Amino acid sequence: MPTASLSDAAQPSARITVIGAGVIGLSTAHELASAGHQVTVIHDQDPLETVSAVAAAIWFPYHSENSQAADLLLRRSLARFEQLAENPETGVDLRYGPNLEGSADEDRSWAQIVTNATEAPSADLPQIAAAGMYATVPVITMSTYLSWLHAQVQAQGVQFIKRNLQSLNDLEGEADLVVLATGLRGAELTGDDQSVYPIRGQVIRLANSPGLANWLCYDEHPHGVSYIIPRRTDIIVGGTDVANDYNLEVDAQTAEDMLSRATGLVPQLAGCEVLEHKVGLRPARETIRLERIDGHAMPVIAAYGHGGAGVTLSWGTAQHVVELLQS
Ligand SMILES: Cc1cc2nc3c(=O)[nH]c(=O)nc-3n(C[C@H](O)[C@H](O)[C@H](O)COP(=O)(O)OP(=O)(O)OC[C@H]3O[C@@H](n4cnc5c(N)ncnc54)[C@H](O)[C@@H]3O)c2cc1C
Repeated sequence: MPTASLSDAAQPSARITVIGAGVIGLSTAHELASAGHQVTVIHDQDPLETVSAVAAAIWFPYHSENSQAADLLLRRSLARFEQLAENPETGVDLRYGPNLEGSADEDRSWAQIVTNATEAPSADLPQIAAAGMYATVPVITMSTYLSWLHAQVQAQGVQFIKRNLQSLNDLEGEADLVVLATGLRGAELTGDDQSVYPIRGQVIRLANSPGLANWLCYDEHPHGVSYIIPRRTDIIVGGTDVANDYNLEVDAQTAEDMLSRATGLVPQLAGCEVLEHKVGLRPARETIRLERIDGHAMPVIAAYGHGGAGVTLSWGTAQHVVELLQS
C-alpha cells in the first residue's frame, strides 16, 4: 500500500481531513488552515454535542500527563487563551482563584507555568485543606467559545461534513493526510491503540445570582473532587472522576453530594437556581497521543487522549500537529 510522506502532505495544496469537531479538532483545523492548508473536518457530533461542550472549563492540567512535552502544550495554550481573553466575543475570561491541596507535597508544576501563582495564606484555607495556591488563569465558557471557534474556522474556508466515518479507507483519494481528533474514540479507525478509557464527569450548572467572580478547585477534597467555576452568567459546580464508567445518565445523589461539598466551600452557592445537570466522559490515556501513525493509505497524525485537560492543552496540541507536518 503506497504511503505518502508527511513532507508531501506539508505542501500548501495538501488536502487535510481532521476527524472530530471538539476543542482539539476545531483548534487543529484552525492552525492547519492558518498554515495555508486545505482543511475538511469530518464529525458525527457537532461542536456543542461533544464532550468539549461539557467542560467547565478552566485552564488547569487536571488528569493530564506530567511531562516536559505536556508542559510545552500547556504554556502555548495558556499564551493563546490569554490573548483570546482580550476579545469578549471568544467567551474566554481571566479569573483568579485558589487551587486547594490536601497535603503539603502535591505536584505544583502547573504553578511554574502561570506567571502569577502565589501561596495561599493559611488564614484563607478551609479546615479540610492543607495548603493552596492562588493564580489567575483562563476560564472558558465552552458554549460561547466553541461557537466562536467554529465560526472562525468556517470563515477560514474549512469545510465541515457531518458523517460517521467507519474506515480510513473511505477517505482514500479524498485526503492527503488525516488527523485523528477523535477524543474517547481515539484509535478506533486505526485499530492500533486500546489504551483510551473514559473518566466520567458530572457537573451542575447554577445561575450566577451571587455574582461570584473567583474560581476554587479542590481535587483532593476528602469527600470527592470539588470545583466551583464561575463564568459570566452561570457557575459550573463539579465534580466526579470515575474511571471506566460509561454511564451518561445524571445521578441525583451524586449531584446532591457535589452541591453539598461545594456549598461547604463557598456558602454563597446556597439557594442558586439549578439550570442544568451534565455528564461527560473525559478521553483519558496514560499519555496524550500526539504522533504520526504509519501503515495507512495516507499519513495519519493522532491527537487524542487529553483526559481532563483537553481545553487546557488544545492550542499547544494544534500547533504541535502543524510542526509534525513540517518536520
Ligand atoms: C465534566 C467535565 C469537566 C471538564 N472540565 C475541563 C476543564 O475545566 N478544563 C479542561 O481543559 N478540560 C476539561 N474537561 C476535559 C475536556 O472536556 C476534554 O479533554 C476535551 O473536551 C476532549 O476534546 P476532544 O476534542 O479530544 O474530544 P471531543 O470533544 O469528545 O470530540 C471528539 C470529536 O470526534 C468526533 N469523532 C470521533 N470518532 C468519529 C468518527 N468515527 N466519525 C466521525 N466523527 C468522529 C466526534 O463527533 C467529536 O466531534 C472536562 C471534561 C468533563 C467531562
